[in-house]
Amino acid sequence: MSDTTQLVQLSAAEQAAAIKSGDTSSRELVEAHLAVIEAAEPQINAFLQVSGDEALAQADAFDAKQAKGETEGLPELAGVPIAIKDMIVTKGIVTTAASKILEGWVPPYDATVIEKLKAAGMPLLGKTNLDEFAQGSSTEHSAYGPTHNPWDTTRVPGGSGGGSASAVASFEAPLALGTDTGGSIRQPGSLTGTVGVKPTYGGVSRFGAIAMASSLDQIGPVARTVLDSALLQEVIGGYDERDSTSIPMPVPPMAAAAREGAKRDLHGVKVGLIKELGGDGYQPGVQARFEEAVQLLQDMGAEVVEVSCPRLEYALGAYYIIMPSEVSSNLARYDGMRYGLRIMPADGVPQTAANMMAATREAGFGDEVKRRIILGTYALSAGYYDAWYGSAQKVRTLVIEDFNKAFEQVDVLVSPTSPSTAFKLGEKMDDPLAMYMNDIATIPANLAGTPAMSIPAGLSDDGLPVGFQLIAPQKRDDLLYKPAAALEAALEERWNGPIWRSMNASWLKNLAK
Ligand code: GLN
Repeated sequence: MSDTTQLVQLSAAEQAAAIKSGDTSSRELVEAHLAVIEAAEPQINAFLQVSGDEALAQADAFDAKQAKGETEGLPELAGVPIAIKDMIVTKGIVTTAASKILEGWVPPYDATVIEKLKAAGMPLLGKTNLDEFAQGSSTEHSAYGPTHNPWDTTRVPGGSGGGSASAVASFEAPLALGTDTGGSIRQPGSLTGTVGVKPTYGGVSRFGAIAMASSLDQIGPVARTVLDSALLQEVIGGYDERDSTSIPMPVPPMAAAAREGAKRDLHGVKVGLIKELGGDGYQPGVQARFEEAVQLLQDMGAEVVEVSCPRLEYALGAYYIIMPSEVSSNLARYDGMRYGLRIMPADGVPQTAANMMAATREAGFGDEVKRRIILGTYALSAGYYDAWYGSAQKVRTLVIEDFNKAFEQVDVLVSPTSPSTAFKLGEKMDDPLAMYMNDIATIPANLAGTPAMSIPAGLSDDGLPVGFQLIAPQKRDDLLYKPAAALEAALEERWNGPIWRSMNASWLKNLAK
């Protein structure tokens, strides 16, 4: 194995430690990941944009600082590179949300999370692929071609953040950022065997996150280990006055919780099994891995009880009214006037602003985005607003009540992350409802604003990764990390190492030759 393949298979925390001990440098890490990106991209297509020159310049700046002893006080992950979902704006680097309507758009500012990464000395490797405007569960709705799952390149990596998940799973990046509106960090995590977290709503600034459905959107970490995810969430979390929904509270002690969890003692932790998520409709291999994981939690001393959240049954329905309503409003800004694509009306059509807008939106948006704009516009229209949007908001309150009640009994709720393992490319493209069903277990946490995480729970009978979901009360993201890290450690023993070891990463082998 060459140095490159060894380096990229270290966790982000290990890469950071290797920088500190002088075994490697930020530049060496960036170069190693750029080499993997070059080798893997023909098969994976996780990146829409690789910003290699910028990343090397950032790495050199960090290494120079380090040489002068000026990196004291920086976060633990200082110097470790990261990939960014193309739903988050990056100053000077093209940002498209995987839509034709933003083709070539160069943002004049950085999102708050990007400012924080830069301040931490973390080089940005590039922008990752997604379903257009984060709308989908397979990354097939990208205007720039689908991302492939590194476990089996004929399969989807999940979505919308399939690019970030595949980049981390394939060792193109040690870490990534995603956005999660209904599961777009956790469901790809589940399908690619990576860790993904949707933080508490308001726990991480949304300033500079391209808006999909503002009351549901959250930026969060994508990683290969629970500790890496905790360290990253601590870098990006915290109050931001530029986001009106940001919560003024200290960042929860997540890395400490993950380190505590690694000791594998869960006495005093109360875990609630959500009765309504799992069982019928879930792939047998998914259900089996879920039940084994619950047993492991119990073996480590956790008290496990079944809890009922009866109104979760209506969560998917409520989401598919509230989300498109907000989408229809948020995406009204792409009108050919302000930024991105502009298409003039065809010859013979009056050259009015309205006709230009119509032509631009017709050419610039894909089918799924149009479907949601139409649905949302309908749900918000006079005469239908109370019946659709108003009712959905009431259901949302009931979901929140169910969670509140459950959290009176337990510290953390658990369920499978997604009903199935990675499906074949093309399999669900003609059936929007089948696609929407992927999010049945992830959406409730978005509706309730609670933090939630997916960690790999092993492989199903088909040899593909299965995700295990944990949900904690609002503002208690730290409560996710202790049981998650404990479970990760126990599963590592059960599977003789991290599950990514069983992935056939052919591009790494080619690199080592
Ligand atoms: N897959 C879900 C959807 O299509 C969630 C998307 C997301 O979290 N951005 O809406």
